[in-house]
Amino acid sequence: MSWEGPGFVDHHAHLLTVAVGRQPACCSGQTTEEIQAWHHLVLSRWSTPMDQPSEPLPVHDGTRGAIERGLHHARELGLVQVTEAGMEDWAYLEALLQIRARLGELPVRVRILVASGIADVKRMARTGDPWLELEGVKFYADGWIGTRTAALDRAYDDDDDAERGVLFLDADTLARRADPFAEAGWTIATHAIGDRAIATVLDAYEKIFGSDCAAAAPRIEHAQVLNDELVRRMASLGVVACIQPGFAVSDAADARRALGSRWDEAYHWDSLLDAGVRVIAGSDHPVESLAPLVGLHRLVTGDFEDGRSTGAPTLPLDVALDLMTDATAGTVVLSDDPHGREDELTSIEIEDVTPTG
Ligand SMILES: [Zn+2]
Repeated sequence: MSWEGPGFVDHHAHLLTVAVGRQPACCSGQTTEEIQAWHHLVLSRWSTPMDQPSEPLPVHDGTRGAIERGLHHARELGLVQVTEAGMEDWAYLEALLQIRARLGELPVRVRILVASGIADVKRMARTGDPWLELEGVKFYADGWIGTRTAALDRAYDDDDDAERGVLFLDADTLARRADPFAEAGWTIATHAIGDRAIATVLDAYEKIFGSDCAAAAPRIEHAQVLNDELVRRMASLGVVACIQPGFAVSDAADARRALGSRWDEAYHWDSLLDAGVRVIAGSDHPVESLAPLVGLHRLVTGDFEDGRSTGAPTLPLDVALDLMTDATAGTVVLSDDPHGREDELTSIEIEDVTPTG
């Protein structure tokens, strides 16, 4: 038996960075303590993780080969399009253009959000190529819940030292920095996890776009700690939420401790959808698996792949599929048990991925 449907799209991953064996700046460090210290160090520089300089990437056969393998891997998992959420070096684009020229196409469509640290209005130009296109600029407003650095309205329930988390940018600063890119028609996408960060980004988007906000469709990446007021504001402004299908499950136990009663409204993508907010999805690989079927499973069941239940909020299958796929980006064929394996998630094979256009 097989199923053919719209292809999976990943609107937020760090695939290129991982492909060349690097760590995204957002995730510098290994342990929770290291990442927490990194967030505080960046804050002390009056900077953001998306503005940290990275070691220059050399473009040679090794780099091109590594990127090509990364894109092939994404295709094998059923993806037809992947967005790099914060390209930290223009050399990635150079390598992609060379791969594109040599292959005549790419294994998957690639979309790029340029990291705010290297974004330059003069340098940014649309390629007009359906396989490879610049989308906009990625900014970074706060940290993460696991490291108690997401910016909250009220202090963390379980960590007095963390206070209300870390806010890298205030609304005026974000508006001032993002405005030239918005003016030039680029999508603005900002990492905001805590309620205080989300409110700050919405304030900035109001300043930048005013009544044109819905037409520009700026994005909030993650949008985890929600409440009625934030959901209402996102809907009325026309801000897009880019959510991570695996996060609620991964975070459930820890986020409950961190957020206390705020957990009841957090990760509730259904409340965003009910209010009319446009929701798109991305794995945030390497934070989570790049495999869309893993994300889909978590989003629909609220369980880990081994069946452990977390009580995380879920969405109906048709709704989840809808926000993880895009028929205009390509189609995908999934077949039952092609290798005779028992495991529900790995026994699905992508027979064909045919991006259109
Ligand atoms: Zn990310």
